[in-house]
Amino acid sequence: MEVRAQLASVFHLDKCLGCHTCSVVCKNLWTDRKGSEHMWWNNVETRPGTGYPPLWEDQQRHHGGWVLAGGELRLRLGSRPHVLDQLFQPPTLPTLDDQYEPWTYRYGDLLGADPTKDLPTARPVSAITGRPIDPSAGPNWDDDLGGSAVHAAADPNLAALDPDERQALLAFDRLVFFHLPRTCNHCLNPACAAACPSGAIYKRGEDGIVVLAKERCRGWRMCVPACPYKKTFHSWLEGKSEKCIGCYPRLESGDAPACFHACTGRIRYQGVLLYDADAAARAARAPDERLVDAFRDALLDPADPDVAAEAARAGLGEAVLAAARRSPVDRFVRDWELALPLHPEFRTLPMVFYVPPLSPVRAVRSDGARPVSDDLLADPAALRIPIRYLASLFAAGNERVVVDALQALAAVRAHRRARTAGDVTAADAARLLLEAGL
Ligand code: SF4
Ligand code: SF4
Repeated sequence: MEVRAQLASVFHLDKCLGCHTCSVVCKNLWTDRKGSEHMWWNNVETRPGTGYPPLWEDQQRHHGGWVLAGGELRLRLGSRPHVLDQLFQPPTLPTLDDQYEPWTYRYGDLLGADPTKDLPTARPVSAITGRPIDPSAGPNWDDDLGGSAVHAAADPNLAALDPDERQALLAFDRLVFFHLPRTCNHCLNPACAAACPSGAIYKRGEDGIVVLAKERCRGWRMCVPACPYKKTFHSWLEGKSEKCIGCYPRLESGDAPACFHACTGRIRYQGVLLYDADAAARAARAPDERLVDAFRDALLDPADPDVAAEAARAGLGEAVLAAARRSPVDRFVRDWELALPLHPEFRTLPMVFYVPPLSPVRAVRSDGARPVSDDLLADPAALRIPIRYLASLFAAGNERVVVDALQALAAVRAHRRARTAGDVTAADAARLLLEAGL
């Protein structure tokens, strides 16, 4: 056993309001410079939808992450199989259409507007050329278009559904969406770092945050296609790449990262996870259906005396162990098994985990009865978001781990309702919690 510690996060999707406060504070703090307009270290996507950059999950189009071939991991970088081939080929980068032409507004139009006219409008103009433009994309264009069925229908995860199921999900009377906040995952097996020919990207030993040292960046841009989550960005103005740095200067002075601090829905949790480096390396090579379980197997119980002894041998101090023992992330991910990794099949072992959305259940079930928590999963019509769609996002297609997480969430919801609304009996709520292993 080789014990390591990692700073990790959980985002609780049922609580996200889609307010974009997190994105805006991050942008104000780190990327509000010329040339970094397209850099959204934190963005929030409306799902079903195409995300940002559009269709980033489609690895045929954007490439990235690791591919398992003959039991070995190979970096997926464009159409070429190996990083050395890529050095002599331009990397496959998101285009200007993907990351949009940055625009601003001609605010002078407002000041000089005809006072007799209602609703004076500031025209959008290119932030680069100053010429009037018709903005064609943005960091959450799906949302800007009010849940456009066209964008929703292009979501690659809908491929996991039957045509009827897909049509039902997108039908107007059943229209449902949720918000997916995304940052760099500070992966255990970061493809961005593996792809960088200059060695500019590295994982900090003390907390596992993946940082990009700009002074070492030579503008190769290999990290951009290599990251399957498209969370590295290149500045054409500076000739350097950039990525989320986990707000480490704030962490080092005792503050939470800006996006956590500002989160209106209080959906974000941060804490320490202990893991076995050997088991994590095996997890990155696990078959798709075993990925989430293998990932969990690599996590270590900080209250286990054997783990504590190994951690001490590995040089981890008592303060790190104490932080792991009180870590909400450890509870959500390892203990309660409520939070799941985003697209584990990219095999970077991402360290941001998501509590999948149970969403409001339908008020009236297909048979006319009012839904109760324990038959939610027996009656898929009561669930607004199909399990298979969530399994495509959070479990490499393994529906069981999603069902288990939703079952546990339904039990917690029943527990709360027993104490507040009173429409579930305390005995039923206790039984559901027990069945969910909570
Ligand atoms: Fe690197 Fe972050 Fe992408 Fe992981 S999510 S590969 S750490 S940029
Ligand atoms: Fe969601 Fe919090 Fe971001 Fe608002 S600030 S969009 S609630 S993650």
